[in-house]
Amino acid sequence: MSSKTSDKSVQCSFCGKNGNEVASMVSGPDVYICDICIKTSVDILKNNLAAYNTRSSKKTNLTPQVIKSSLDEHVIDQDKAKKTLAVAVYNHYKRISSNSSFFELEDVEIEKSNILLLGSTGVGKTLIAQTLARILDVPFAIADATTLTEAGYVGDDVETVLVRLLQAADYNLEKAQRGIVYIDELDKIARKSESVSITRDVSGEGVQQALLKILEGTVAGVPPKGGRKHPEQSLININTKNILFVCGGAFDGLKPIIASRINKNPMGFDADVESVKNTADDDLLLKVQPEDLVKYGLIPELVGRLPIVAPLHDLNAHALKKILTEPKNAIIKQFKKLFMMEGVELEFDKKALDAIVEDAMKRKTGARALRSIVENILLEIMYELPTLDNVDKCLITKDTVIKGSKPVFIESDRKSA
Ligand code: ADP
Repeated sequence: MSSKTSDKSVQCSFCGKNGNEVASMVSGPDVYICDICIKTSVDILKNNLAAYNTRSSKKTNLTPQVIKSSLDEHVIDQDKAKKTLAVAVYNHYKRISSNSSFFELEDVEIEKSNILLLGSTGVGKTLIAQTLARILDVPFAIADATTLTEAGYVGDDVETVLVRLLQAADYNLEKAQRGIVYIDELDKIARKSESVSITRDVSGEGVQQALLKILEGTVAGVPPKGGRKHPEQSLININTKNILFVCGGAFDGLKPIIASRINKNPMGFDADVESVKNTADDDLLLKVQPEDLVKYGLIPELVGRLPIVAPLHDLNAHALKKILTEPKNAIIKQFKKLFMMEGVELEFDKKALDAIVEDAMKRKTGARALRSIVENILLEIMYELPTLDNVDKCLITKDTVIKGSKPVFIESDRKSA
C-alpha cells in the first residue's frame, strides 16, 4: 500500500475522483481509495461497531436493573422482592459464569445464595421465579414441598424435582445444571415440635434434610424418566451446585414470632401485645431473622442455605386492578385476544373491572382469584360467541359481573343495513 497525491492519472476505485481532486489517495494492487472514501468507510465501520456492541450487550448485560425492569413488565408491585431477586440472580449467574480465578481472589469462593420468598398465596411468588427463568433463558421447574417425601416413603422423592428440571431442559444436562427450581409451600414441611413434644413431626424434618442436600450442592443420581429408582436402572447424575433454588411459602404464624422477638424486653418478658398489633404487617415480615424461621420449624441448616429472604406484601385493590390489565400477559389482554380471533372486540367498562376486583378481594387468595372470576363471567358468552353473527363488540358491564346479566353486544353495520 502506498500513498499518491495530486496524480491526475489515478482514480479512486470507489467514487471515481481523480488524484488532483482529493487531498490524498491510497493505492493497493490495481486499486485506489481517496481520503474522502476512507473517511466515509471509517464512519460506516464505527456505526456498525456501535450497533454490534448494543446487540451483544443486550444479550449479555443482564444487569440487576435490566432484570428488574423485565420483571416489572410481568409482575405488579412487589418492588422490594423484585429488586432483591434481581441482585441475587445477577450475582448467582455471575458466579457460575466465572470459571476464571477472578472471582476466587485469595481463595475467596463465592457461595451459592438460594432465595426464600415469604408471602401469602397468590401474591406473585411463583410468577417472579418463573419470570426470572424466562428472562435468563434457563430451564425452570416447580415442586410442591408437601408432595415431597424422604426416599423410601410414598410420594415423590426430593430428586424428582431435578428430573423435572432435566425435562424442562430437554434432557440437556449442562442446561439443567444452571436452571432454577421453585419449591412452593416450604412452610408446610416445618416441624411442629415446639408444641408437639413426644410425637415430633419427623416426616417434615426428613424432607427438610433431603431438600438441604440438594440445596447446598450435591451430585444426585436421578432416574431419567422420573418415578422410583430401581437398582437395575441407569441413573443420570445431576450436580446441583449451580442450580438456583427459590423457595416460597405463606408462613402463616410467622409474624407473631417476629413481633414477639422484636418486642421482647431485656428482662425476657413479652412486651404488650398492643404495640405488636400496631406494627404494620408488611413491615414485620421485612424484619424477619433466621432465628424466627427456625422457631417457625425450619431446621437451622436449611435456613442457613436460604440466606436471601424476600418478603412479598398482600395485594390491595389497586394492585389487583393493575394485574387484570397491565402486565404483558394480563388476563384481560388474553381474553381480548381470544375474542379478537372470533372477530369481536371485548371491552370491560371501568365499573365492571372494579366489581371483579372487589370479588377477588373477598376471596383472600390474592391475584389467584382473578382468572377464575373472569373465566366465569365470560363462560356463557364464549359458549355463544362462535355462533353470534354480525357482532362487532362485546361490552362487559358491572351487571354482567355481579348479576350475570347479558353483556352489551354492539352489532356491525352490516346487519342493521
Ligand atoms: P403465589 O404467590 O401463590 O406463588 P402466583 O405467583 O402463583 O402466586 O400467582 C397466582 C396468579 O396470580 C398467577 O396467575 C399470577 O400471574 C397472578 N399474580 C399474582 N401476583 C401477581 C403480581 N404481583 N403481578 C402480576 N400477576 C400476579
